[in-house]
Amino acid sequence: MSLIAVTELKKRFGANEVLKGINLDIMPGEVIAIIGKSGSGKSTFLRCINGLETVDEGSILVAGAQLLPDEVHLKALRLKVGMIFQQFNLFPHLSAGRNVMLSQMVVKKTGKAQAEAMARRQLERVGLAHKFDAYPDELSGGQQQRVAIARALAMEPIALLCDEITSALDPELVAEVLAVVRELAAEGMTLMMVTHEMKFARDVCSRVVFMHEGRVHEVGPPEEVFSAPKTVELQRFLGHGH
Ligand code: ADP
Ligand code: MG
Repeated sequence: MSLIAVTELKKRFGANEVLKGINLDIMPGEVIAIIGKSGSGKSTFLRCINGLETVDEGSILVAGAQLLPDEVHLKALRLKVGMIFQQFNLFPHLSAGRNVMLSQMVVKKTGKAQAEAMARRQLERVGLAHKFDAYPDELSGGQQQRVAIARALAMEPIALLCDEITSALDPELVAEVLAVVRELAAEGMTLMMVTHEMKFARDVCSRVVFMHEGRVHEVGPPEEVFSAPKTVELQRFLGHGH
């Protein structure tokens, strides 16, 4: 059974219909790359799955549970599905460890000792066990993004959504963040990532989704999508045809 099932999802901002009927089923352990031009609706799609945006039409099922647009359901969904953004949004006045502890304690009401143990485990998982007491401004961008990943993992999500998580990083820091994502994929984490890292998508992802004007325009395994794009829009996007 699919872990995330999206059916005829539509989303408007005023008169602007941004998602025009998205259908996508994601199986447990799948790693999905989402590619497409700026403005094609990639971020909005992830934000709907995470419950950060309400849905106008269609349905999203997460682990079999219907996502309903009321606060109780959205909050439950945000607990189940983690999301990481281009900007790391760490609290500057809190150490890395405290940053990872905070949402557990606030949102999940986890006790301090348990939250700290979880924070240490997740910081170790992203290779930053030794940075528990470091403050964000003492860390590189790549390290800060890895703390943000640890913070998401500490909530024990059933899936992780990544929206251009390496786009704000200096080129030399991209690899360390992608290495963490690659490790999570190998451990069986279900991942959906909006990315410009085509080589990474080719190596790591089970399927690539090409979004165009609010629709899933093409979807398939990376070797098909990258080597034999069917539509002229995807050919153009990849810089083939013209
Ligand atoms: P992408 O991530 O593919 O660049 P987005 O999902 O961010 O695309 O945006 C898709 C469209 O939705 C764009 O036209 C954008 O201007 C619009 N949009 C996104 N968020 C909002 C919002 N909060 N309010 C109004 N329009 C929005
Ligand atoms: Mg975006």
